[in-house]
Amino acid sequence: MVTESNIMTSNLAALTPGEFVTRMLELGITKGYFTFIDGEFHSSHPELASLADFIKNSPDYNEHEGIFFQADKKTGCLFLAGVHRTNRGSGHGGTRFKQYETIESIFSDVMRLSKGMTDKNACAEIWYGGGKGIIYAPNNPRSYEGAAREQVFANYGRFIASLNGVYITAEDMNTSPEDMAVIHTNNRFCTCLPVEIGGSSNPSAFTALGVFRGLVAAVHFVDGKKDTNEINLTGKHIIVQGAGNVGGRLIDRLIGCGAKVTVFDLREETKAELKAKYPADQLFIHDDGNSLYAIEADVFSPNAIGAILNDTTIPMLNVKIVAGGANNQLADPVKHANDLHERGIIYVPDFIINRMGIVNCSDELDGYLPDEVEAAADNVYPATYRLLEDAKKINHSPQFEAIDLAEKLSRVNHPILGHRGMKIIKHILANGWGK
Ligand code: NAD
Repeated sequence: MVTESNIMTSNLAALTPGEFVTRMLELGITKGYFTFIDGEFHSSHPELASLADFIKNSPDYNEHEGIFFQADKKTGCLFLAGVHRTNRGSGHGGTRFKQYETIESIFSDVMRLSKGMTDKNACAEIWYGGGKGIIYAPNNPRSYEGAAREQVFANYGRFIASLNGVYITAEDMNTSPEDMAVIHTNNRFCTCLPVEIGGSSNPSAFTALGVFRGLVAAVHFVDGKKDTNEINLTGKHIIVQGAGNVGGRLIDRLIGCGAKVTVFDLREETKAELKAKYPADQLFIHDDGNSLYAIEADVFSPNAIGAILNDTTIPMLNVKIVAGGANNQLADPVKHANDLHERGIIYVPDFIINRMGIVNCSDELDGYLPDEVEAAADNVYPATYRLLEDAKKINHSPQFEAIDLAEKLSRVNHPILGHRGMKIIKHILANGWGK
């Protein structure tokens, strides 16, 4: 029977997030969820059936323990929290403040990114599971200032608070420590807070340090040497795509160790600043983002956006190693890992070497000790080296070796709390969350 409600909910995944928010509010649904509990998939409302089908059949779905959303009437925003796996502890990962074209793309992203955090946190051996948040706003995130911005992050903070700690958020795309402080006034499950209120602020310096250590490990591996003390990159040529918070600091370290660095960034100001800062015989600015891939060098280091290793760019590469900080560099994590491997290019998995951001934020929850984070950054070199050795032994892409490691480590229960995240999900649902 065709009812009004059927028509309103027949293909939710194809709606724009704005249409979805309107439709949910018309149906009286402000909060909803999709869970995987004791081997079974559930959704909060029968009206969400078409979206539930989309999620279950998505290549990004991986038995996520909980995917939660809120349609926020006051701001018109859509809030999402993806909690992939919580054996090691609550899902911990940043919140993206971003616009999306469709509900399909926003739910795919939260699934992919929260699974990515499971892998990253497990391989870093921190006691947190995988989680990721998304705030979709009707207008460009950068246009939200003052009271309007505070309202978004305050409401989002209360959404996260309602999840009772199964998801802990952090800074990510288009968010700042100040935004985290607003979230924190509305809940206690938040990191990357400003230093003045006991936080560790922006984690990029530690992220860049980890990327640097991992990149050097790969260079040494190719050269058949292993020495964490002697880092001399004289004679090496590194291509850096993106010179922002992470890439900029990475360039500084590479140049400090004698490397020749070729950089492309979309921002003219960034390029001018780099040119003024570094010697002309070490720093080369490239003006074309497409031909960057074809330059002959030792390493290509992606530090801008995801999915840049794909069918078009991989055949162009003229390097021995790809190692950088950008998340989700492989457009297809299986096919493109294989493609790089077949071309004899060592791919250092992003989640192995860009881990230090989340390691830094996680340290904050137990009283922040930067020296401890610094010591954890020292582990990136041996962890990367070991991974490359193991992958070589079985002629596998390091990506597959890292995924296998993550799968194993992410199923280890927290030594004291056990699989507490799942208990929290069961508890909030038993108490009517989303109803
Ligand atoms: P950022 O916004 O500070 O810097 C990104 C830079 O890339 C900017 O200068 C931008 O102009 C440039 N850029 C954008 N698109 C580009 C393109 N197509 N080609 C070349 N340059 C381009 O971001 P960030 O904090 O440095 O993060 C960079 C990457 O690292 C992102 O993928 C992010 O998810 C990932 N990452 C960051 C952290 C962290 O602690 N900041 C942690 C883990 C992962």
